[in-house]
Amino acid sequence: MSAGPAAPAVLATLTGPRTLRRALAGSLLGALVIAGPWSVPAAATGAAPAPAPEQAVVQAGAYGPAAFGTASGPPSRATQRAAALPAPPQDQPPVLADLAVLGESWLTAVSASLAGAVNTELWTMPVTGFPISAGYGIPGGWAAGRHTGTDFAVPTGTPVNAVGPGTVVFAGDWGDYGKAVLIEMADQHYTLYAHLSEIHVQEGQRVNGGVRAGLSGNTGRSTGPHLHFEVRTSRAYGSDVDPLAYLAGHGVATG
Ligand SMILES: [Zn+2]
Repeated sequence: MSAGPAAPAVLATLTGPRTLRRALAGSLLGALVIAGPWSVPAAATGAAPAPAPEQAVVQAGAYGPAAFGTASGPPSRATQRAAALPAPPQDQPPVLADLAVLGESWLTAVSASLAGAVNTELWTMPVTGFPISAGYGIPGGWAAGRHTGTDFAVPTGTPVNAVGPGTVVFAGDWGDYGKAVLIEMADQHYTLYAHLSEIHVQEGQRVNGGVRAGLSGNTGRSTGPHLHFEVRTSRAYGSDVDPLAYLAGHGVATG
């Protein structure tokens, strides 16, 4: 029996659990008798793998919470014992590295997702805090025989928001609608803001929810200052849908 093959057993015996010490007591005695205790430091630098039972300790220490310590104290004794053992098999560190990379890419993906949500999924009311003066769909003297939008009773000069992400496809004078803005939304609907006193966007401009489209007014066919807000499924008049239901569908609190 030489000192070489027995070296891992010596190291494991010095640092391992009681059961392992008992199991290896005989070989340890033989190694000490033949090679002497002066052979232990040399054995510690050997490349031989650790005995199987200790590999389980290495894995538990490396992957468990104890490997990272805690706010209330240092890593456990089991981790310290694992740290004193020979290096784990070569396939272990890459696994840890992969986990680290996976965690980093996950964080990156989550960050990008959050940034995307802020940039592209912001929705809001066109104006807030003002009563509805004419609801959607009520019958009347409109060309469609009904009111195709929702009217908000806002004083002239009130900031009017684009309600969501989209592209301005019309900005200017539009007959009965007066100064108006039409936005093609990212979801293929169109939102119309009418009777404005000022227009603050240009055709072709990409907007987000909350971008100021203009200021409210009393232009066009209007009997008093208000915002006519309309939502269509196409550019054509008469393809309107309930504006408040549309906004609610995008998570906007319309109450
Ligand atoms: Zn109206």
